[in-house]
Amino acid sequence: MSLWWWLLARIVAALLAGLLAGLPFGHPAAGVALVASVVVARLLYLLRTTQRWLRGLSGAEAPEASGAWGELISLIARLQRRKQYHKRRLMRLLRELRRSTAAIPDGVVVLNPQGEILWFNRMAARLLHLRSRTDVGMRIENLMRQPEFIRYLRSGDYALPVLVTASVDADVWLQIHLVPYGDGQSLMLVRDVTRAQRLEAMRKDFVANASHELRSPLTVIAGYLETLGQDLDLDPALAAPIAEMRRQSTRMTGIIEDLLSLSRLEASGDAAERTPINVVSMLEHLRRDLVARLGQGASVQVEAASTAWLLGDEAQIHSAFANLVDNAAKYTPQGGAITLRWTSDTAGGHFSVQDTGIGIGPEHIPRLTERFYRVDPGRSRATGGSGLGLAIVKHVLQRHGATLEITSNEGRGSIFSCHFPDDRLVTESKLPQTRGAHD
Ligand code: ADP
Repeated sequence: MSLWWWLLARIVAALLAGLLAGLPFGHPAAGVALVASVVVARLLYLLRTTQRWLRGLSGAEAPEASGAWGELISLIARLQRRKQYHKRRLMRLLRELRRSTAAIPDGVVVLNPQGEILWFNRMAARLLHLRSRTDVGMRIENLMRQPEFIRYLRSGDYALPVLVTASVDADVWLQIHLVPYGDGQSLMLVRDVTRAQRLEAMRKDFVANASHELRSPLTVIAGYLETLGQDLDLDPALAAPIAEMRRQSTRMTGIIEDLLSLSRLEASGDAAERTPINVVSMLEHLRRDLVARLGQGASVQVEAASTAWLLGDEAQIHSAFANLVDNAAKYTPQGGAITLRWTSDTAGGHFSVQDTGIGIGPEHIPRLTERFYRVDPGRSRATGGSGLGLAIVKHVLQRHGATLEITSNEGRGSIFSCHFPDDRLVTESKLPQTRGAHD
């Protein structure tokens, strides 16, 4: 029999006993009422002691009770013990987690959906000069006012980190990466990259200085070689080596000029200027130059489906487009065709160079814009390539918010496309009267 039936039976038995005890006195109902009052009083007493115990008023000891009530109390006690065990485990885990995140060598800041600071570790406090007593609950935007950071925070695009200088020390470089999680919260990871930045700056300076220093002696050598090459009294045995030396010095000059162009691009800040450029006319010039170089028989087409002008740095855009056109010519055998295209749509402007040349294997495509990367170094050298052309193109496009897309079929030809964002396009009718670019 279950405990509840047992309790019921006992209560019914007690009430019956009360009824029987009342009968001899002629008041059976009074006997039942008396027993019922005792039962209710006992239940009330147990209820009260249980309630006080649950509230923690009478210490940790559970009230003494037997039967169904005792089972109820032991069930509650078991639930409570289990809860306390889980709570202790959770607290231990939380402590471990806090201790480990506090010890991470990078700064970690937890932000709520409103961008207010919920928690940060010791390194974040050191790098961002945060104080736990005053800064928890503050909006991160109010504590970090660097424009690059504010732009990054509001952009909503957190795929890549952003680089900022520390607010109190402009020599300290911080890399900040926002990682959204949960319901709009985000984790802000902060890393001190001052050392890496200094090394990068040293590398850039070194390349720029070395290229600059090499330029003058090379100009002298190239000058003498040119004079020697034109000397009619020159020993014929020397003619071939001197011609080769002239070719090599021209190549070296090309490499140095490209290195200097890259250094200038790297030193010229973030976004390129926004001078209106007549792309259609630029493509016509490029076509004419190429035909002049390749000969009248060369098949070079311009397909301009758009008359939109591009807002950018004209010299840089010209250098990037000319590099792509040069490559198409270099890697397309005689009899091939080269097409320059300019189109625009809602996504923006698209310039592409298509050739019917040797093409590129798919394994090389992701690495083409690396400095000095060549698919076939021998061939590139023979055509006078510096291996820096596409690196320059990539830098120029980056500064214009544009991307480079390369599609190629080995043996069939390649298409190099530059995609410019819509905000860099302007229709001719909307051009300001006093424009800086000529057509
Ligand atoms: P390079 O001065 O050697 O041409 P680039 O940076 O301009 O250097 O190009 C890198 C490499 O990409 C080249 O060496 C060549 O192998 C390959 N490449 C570039 N453009 C083309 C093209 N249109 N067709 C085939 N290969 C190309």
